[in-house]
Amino acid sequence: MNMKELIIIGGGPAGITAGIYAARKKLDGLLLTKDFIGQLGNAGVMENWPGEKNIQGPELLESFKSHLENYEFPIKQEEVEGLEKSEDGFRVITEGKSFESEAVIITTGRRPRPLNVPGEEEFVGKGVSYCVTCDGALFQDKNVAIVGGGNAGLEGALELSDYGKKVFILEIGDRLQGDEYLIDKVKDRKNIELLTKVKTEKIMGDDFVTGLEYENLSDGKSSKLEVEGVFIEIGSIPNSNFLNGLVELNDVSEIKIDPETCRTATEGLFAAGDVTDVRDKQVVVAAGEGCKALLSAYSYIKN
Ligand SMILES: Cc1cc2nc3c(=O)[nH]c(=O)nc-3n(C[C@H](O)[C@H](O)[C@H](O)COP(=O)(O)OP(=O)(O)OC[C@H]3O[C@@H](n4cnc5c(N)ncnc54)[C@H](O)[C@@H]3O)c2cc1C
Repeated sequence: MNMKELIIIGGGPAGITAGIYAARKKLDGLLLTKDFIGQLGNAGVMENWPGEKNIQGPELLESFKSHLENYEFPIKQEEVEGLEKSEDGFRVITEGKSFESEAVIITTGRRPRPLNVPGEEEFVGKGVSYCVTCDGALFQDKNVAIVGGGNAGLEGALELSDYGKKVFILEIGDRLQGDEYLIDKVKDRKNIELLTKVKTEKIMGDDFVTGLEYENLSDGKSSKLEVEGVFIEIGSIPNSNFLNGLVELNDVSEIKIDPETCRTATEGLFAAGDVTDVRDKQVVVAAGEGCKALLSAYSYIKN
């Protein structure tokens, strides 16, 4: 088997940046990614990437990707299912294949946190969605619910209120959790209704979603809402489940890294971006961390 110097897992801002630096340093490497979508590919308008006052997430990601492709750095679109130690480094396992390298950088990012209620899994793509930017326009003139009253939920509700007939926000806490300016904007919209201290319990439907059931936590009573779409915006979880104990994780399953070098506790294994315990989950931070991880991995490989 052809042993590489480096494998980068993930094709988001952290992985692509690591790939660009690896290519420029002429490392014998490979980038393995499930897709070139990740979180940035699902983000709406971005106003905090330096040099671009206003750019759509997918457009920014496409420009990162074409920058990497400029270098002919090997890329394979495959989902990594396992990672283990090999004699001289690591074995990265995808469906039916494996690849070996001296060092690995993990940049697998995060995915939406599921609600874990009956009906959720069954109706994904049939009215249940985790991405307003991707699916909101499908709900033109329909009643929809958005579960989660943080910034993502509020931004989603504002976007949905431009398409939908009525938008319900269901927040489990006793007040909305987002920024004040967003809360004010939401309160100004006549077609948004806020429900606080409510727990979503069930999503119903036949071929498609027809409604949801929630418990009012003040009096324990259950109520139903007739909606054709349910958007779930209750945060995200790191994509670290394929690591099988090889790396030390924190109590929310993020990879623990040394903040200066992006090293993990496992020698030769580095990690960067939103899958790690880095405090700030932002594109500019993920790209910077991808660069740091590569420079550390480079010095590990060459020394
Ligand atoms: C809706 C939304 C809006 C946002 N808005 C902003 C904003 O305005 N400004 C900002 O700075 N940040 C924003 N963010 C956050 C930003 O998108 C993330 O901080 C950034 O994308 C993290 O980059 P990453 O490379 O660590 O991970 P990701 O972008 O999540 O990329 C991870 C990559 O790993 C791949 N992958 C995952 N699992 C595997 C596997 N098992 N095998 C192989 N590949 C795998 C994925 O396919 C993907 O390519 C937003 C996020 C969301 C969800």
